[in-house]
Amino acid sequence: MNDTAGHTFGNGLLVQTASRLSRMLGKNDRLVRLGGDEFAIVRECMDRGEDIGEMANRLKAAFQEPLRFGGRQAVLTVSMGLAIYPDHARTPEELMQFCDMAVYKAKEAGRNTWRMYDKSMSDSLYRRAALEEKLKQAMAWREFELHYMPQIESGTGVIRGVEALVRWRDSDGQLIQPGDFIPLAEETGMIVTLGEWILRTACQAQVNWKQQLGRDVLMSVNISAVQLKARDFANTVRRIVWETGIDPAYLELEITESMLIESMDSVKPVLDRLREIGVQIALDDFGTGYSSLNYLRLLPITQLKIDKSFTNRLEEVEADRTIVESIIDLVHKLNLRVVAEGIETEAQYRILHELQCDFLQGYLFSRPVDEEGIQNLLRV
Ligand code: C2E
Ligand code: CA
Ligand code: CA
Ligand code: CA
Repeated sequence: MNDTAGHTFGNGLLVQTASRLSRMLGKNDRLVRLGGDEFAIVRECMDRGEDIGEMANRLKAAFQEPLRFGGRQAVLTVSMGLAIYPDHARTPEELMQFCDMAVYKAKEAGRNTWRMYDKSMSDSLYRRAALEEKLKQAMAWREFELHYMPQIESGTGVIRGVEALVRWRDSDGQLIQPGDFIPLAEETGMIVTLGEWILRTACQAQVNWKQQLGRDVLMSVNISAVQLKARDFANTVRRIVWETGIDPAYLELEITESMLIESMDSVKPVLDRLREIGVQIALDDFGTGYSSLNYLRLLPITQLKIDKSFTNRLEEVEADRTIVESIIDLVHKLNLRVVAEGIETEAQYRILHELQCDFLQGYLFSRPVDEEGIQNLLRV
């Protein structure tokens, strides 16, 4: 199976590729075009002693020479997946499916190489399917819960707000961290439903705390790119604000830089609408993507969160301190506020306080705690 890099697979390329492939065929081999730039070679009655890897290497070598067509030329990288019937697969369909998994692995390994199918490839696929099934069930059985992490005002030490962080309590009572299920929820689109539940639960909690404590606590909620791009996201937010009765000035949505890179143009109008509703918008993990002072200028962002990879080494690395200092200065000049994440030591706290970082968040103050835990922290 072939892979075109940067070329549309037009007819010229197609003919050249097919002809070069067919030159490699033995008399019992068959060449099939699967569509696009993908081909399959079916080799029947292969001598067991024959080294199939050797054959794959010959195929790869055959494409080192550029293809020439209509006065142009192109270099193809060849990513191959190999599977054997009946050793691996029981049916022709399965054989093709396993070849496909192996090609995928070859591409993962950096392309222009081959991989032989092995059972672990389908195992990981089955594991994924099982996790997806469990995730659907978890949604139906309401196995998710929110934990909260306080954000401290650096001048006074008062808790000004919390970040809501989702957890999954599975049927065995085990607590699963978001890193282990958010990516899958995003890939499958389930994050849209889950995210709506997270947003509503967080807003409801904010309103309850206000009734119990007599003060508004800023509620920050993480929003995934998939949610932001889903139809009607701003309307969903508007509806939840209305249903829960939260003062939108105390709701902050956290988005990350990486979301903006591919789709600045489609994201900006959504953010504008969110600002019209009156919610705050924080740019999370700042400094980890392609930053991007441009985002600060063009987008209606109200707050910036400096990633913990910068605060981690504030004490030891002079350069990190300089970067953090300039970010804080710049953000203040733009009339935005800034939070530093990942504060774990007193020394980091002192430095950030000196640099006039507005708000601080990290294990030094508290780990994420459950609803009861945060209420106790808010009460003091
Ligand atoms: P994030 O938004 O950057 O959240 C901060 C993460 O850093 C949290 O991990 C938090 O526990 C951890 N953290 C905070 N302070 C410290 C510290 O001082 N030291 C260290 N070592 N870690 C600290 P968590 O809860 O595992 O969340 C991981 C990521 O999962 C989040 O990164 C966020 O991207 C995503 N996530 C969490 N909850 C949600 C959610 O409700 N919705 C969406 N879409 N994503 C979520
Ligand atoms: Ca391809
Ligand atoms: Ca966050
Ligand atoms: Ca973050």
